[in-house]
Amino acid sequence: MGTGPELPGNGIPHDAQLLRLLMDHLPDSIYFKDADSRFTRVNRAQAEWLGIGDPERAVGKSDVDFYPADFAAATRALEIEIMRTGRPVLDLDEHVRAPDGRERWVSTSKLPLAGPDGRIIGVFGLSRDVSSQHADQDRVRDSEALYHSLVDTLPQNVFRKDLDGRLTFVNRKYCETTGLPAEALLGKSDFDLYPAELARKYREDDLRVVKAGRLIEAVEEHQPPGRERRVIRVLKSPVRDSRGYILGVQGVFWDETDLVRAQEDLRRSEERFALAMEGAHDGLWDWDFLKNEVYFAPRWKAQLGYEDGEIGHNPDEWFNRVHPDDVRRLQEEVDAHAEGRAIHLECEYRIRHKEGHWVWMLARGMAVRAPGGKSARMAGSQTDISQRKRAEEQLVRQAFTDTLTGLPNRALFMDRLSQTLRRGRRKAETPFSAIVLDVDRFKDVNDSLGHANGDQLLVAIARRLENCVRPGDTVARLGGDEFAILLEDMQDEGDAVTVARRVQNQVALPFVLEGQEVFTSVSMGLAPGTGYEKPEDLLRDADTAMYRAKERGRACYEVFDQGMHARAVARLQLETDLRRALERKEFRVFYQPIVSLRTDRLVGFEALVRWQHPSRGLMSPAEFLPLAEETGLILPIDLWVLREACRQTGYWQMKYSQNPPLRVNVNLSSKQFVRSSLLGEIKDILAESAFDPASLTLEITESVLMEDSAAVRAMLERIRGLGIKLYLDDFGTGYSSLGYLHRFPIDSLKIHHSFVGAMGQEEHGQLVRTITTLAENMSLGVVAEGVETADQLRRLRELNCDRVQGYLFSRPVASPAAELLVARGPAWQAA
Ligand code: C2E
Ligand code: CA
Ligand code: CA
Repeated sequence: MGTGPELPGNGIPHDAQLLRLLMDHLPDSIYFKDADSRFTRVNRAQAEWLGIGDPERAVGKSDVDFYPADFAAATRALEIEIMRTGRPVLDLDEHVRAPDGRERWVSTSKLPLAGPDGRIIGVFGLSRDVSSQHADQDRVRDSEALYHSLVDTLPQNVFRKDLDGRLTFVNRKYCETTGLPAEALLGKSDFDLYPAELARKYREDDLRVVKAGRLIEAVEEHQPPGRERRVIRVLKSPVRDSRGYILGVQGVFWDETDLVRAQEDLRRSEERFALAMEGAHDGLWDWDFLKNEVYFAPRWKAQLGYEDGEIGHNPDEWFNRVHPDDVRRLQEEVDAHAEGRAIHLECEYRIRHKEGHWVWMLARGMAVRAPGGKSARMAGSQTDISQRKRAEEQLVRQAFTDTLTGLPNRALFMDRLSQTLRRGRRKAETPFSAIVLDVDRFKDVNDSLGHANGDQLLVAIARRLENCVRPGDTVARLGGDEFAILLEDMQDEGDAVTVARRVQNQVALPFVLEGQEVFTSVSMGLAPGTGYEKPEDLLRDADTAMYRAKERGRACYEVFDQGMHARAVARLQLETDLRRALERKEFRVFYQPIVSLRTDRLVGFEALVRWQHPSRGLMSPAEFLPLAEETGLILPIDLWVLREACRQTGYWQMKYSQNPPLRVNVNLSSKQFVRSSLLGEIKDILAESAFDPASLTLEITESVLMEDSAAVRAMLERIRGLGIKLYLDDFGTGYSSLGYLHRFPIDSLKIHHSFVGAMGQEEHGQLVRTITTLAENMSLGVVAEGVETADQLRRLRELNCDRVQGYLFSRPVASPAAELLVARGPAWQAA
């Protein structure tokens, strides 16, 4: 062994030998120090480390002889502490400048050294150079830093967890995803961060990774705190130490939500496409223009009910089977695409099935073009669209049918009418007609028998109307209780009248509703179809005629003529003008004097409205009042007249005072006479013009009294309560009898001018006499209007008539002329 120790003969070393052996051959440094930290003994390795060669040369030296002073001082302090406490220091890693000048890492253990009496007399030390290990650790640290900076740049989320599932590392992306800084994440488990069900799932994955010891990949959901749930793909693998033991799990994940969605969309559209292909059972065709041959796929032929061998290659096999109404269009579409005018071929057409019926098809095609642009071939498919067409037709039918009666509705009627008009323009010789029918007093049926019965009646009428026409004609329900008939291909114009009479007779037969016989009638308007451009115009004229029939007392028909149209148009124009007349201040008040026969004085005026029409000139009430009543415009007109008459008369009263004061009579329409606002309106006007109600007379017609008598009486009484007098106008022309007059608070009767004018005839003279006598008995005054002759005046004087008005005295005149009459003074003087 040369340098090896010498052993005793038995080969077994004694303790001292053993110690020496170990000391000399151990690669670690061993040394003993006394209480002053001076070396008492060092081994060979330590001597080498100290750079002194012979271990003996260390004895009596201390660390200051070998190391920098601060290190030596620190060592001495540590050793004093060990000796004082008797506690060792183990595995202390120290960075030292070794006596040979090199920087080293040393792992040192120092133990207190006790003497035979147990007192601590020194220190035993053992050191090992661990520099190479430390270099490894530095490398690890460096590579870890590199790793971290690297994974921080990754667009994926990277994390590591220990075996307890606590995060030990997260990259920047992970922080972004969770919205939390790394400090808030490290040490947390998935249960701290995510919904419990997800955390459980993650934990299961982790355990799988740990158990299997290899990488797993999964698509999972992820929901960072306060954020929406996403789909992620995750890769997880075990983290191992250098010996291969698993320390935890590391993972990478990224968001695949959009990808998954896109994939799902794709899958769905693929499915749809597959379904469409499957459902369509398209028949393919391929047309070689140069050879003028078409390849028809077996499926194409089967669509028409043919076997493969039954149809050849000629394009006629296709086109000859197409419906005559569609074949031109199909050919045009094919040409349009072949010549490049259409970007593709798409055409719907009917084609004859082998069994004879028509099948709706959709052909789609694309041309194969030579570089010159001319196409040599076109290929495409043929799809059976019968089902879709049937559905469409049904929808169309529903859109054009009246659900209650099953008749065509207005839309379809108008459609047929415009078709007929178009055809009529082409061949003018066959006349046609439209009839509009309206059920008379249908509202009464509805109100008395209920809506269900009303509906029943309409259905029953519909059936009878259908029985009155020929199959080619159209009976439609326009809406409500309005029907229409379109009569086509008539022999002559008189046919329409024949149908109208037939309808009248049919409808006149009783209907049975809930076991009860119901009678009804219709009013009809006929319009011959010639000379119309638009169906609405024809229908409108039939409508106008129908309204004429209603005016004539219903249950009859009227044939439209141009006069009717002109009247209808004029009426419409008048209505428009009338609506504007008030705001344009076109109304005027004319005044007709009322003269007392007792005193022969001018006692007042009747205010009569006129319309200064911008183009038609001064219009009398007869020309526009009926329309004003119909449209409701009469209410504002009457109030305007009242206001103006009060203002004017008030002014005259002030300017030309007379005793008793000048009076004024104002007419009030019976239309909406009983309305709650009337009294307030009158009061307002009186207050506004500061007019004494005692000087005002309101003239109402008998028709007012025909309405709800209690309400009318109440209203009249309230008006009279204001001090206003009430005259009953046009007495004798209405339904009124003297008998009921006492029930109403009336002051005077006005005898209609027709009686006055006819007083020369015996019976009329008698009538006027009767009226005046009875009025006298009932303490009612009598005013005669329309006095035109001195003879009439004489007779009225004989009959004790109070007051008169008429052309004999004055026509109604505008206010300046009326003022002249007032200015002359009350005593009447013929002008
Ligand atoms: P009315 O209330 O009976 O008025 C008398 C009508 O007889 C007036 O016709 C008047 O001009 C006319 N008249 C007067 N003296 C004679 C005569 O000697 N001979 C003949 N043949 N006629 C005479 P006017 O002004 O055309 O008014 C017609 C009707 O219009 C009035 O009949 C009245 O019912 C109504 N009316 C006039 N102004 C108004 C009004 O402001 N409001 C309402 N609601 N109706 C009015
Ligand atoms: Ca009057
Ligand atoms: Ca009158």
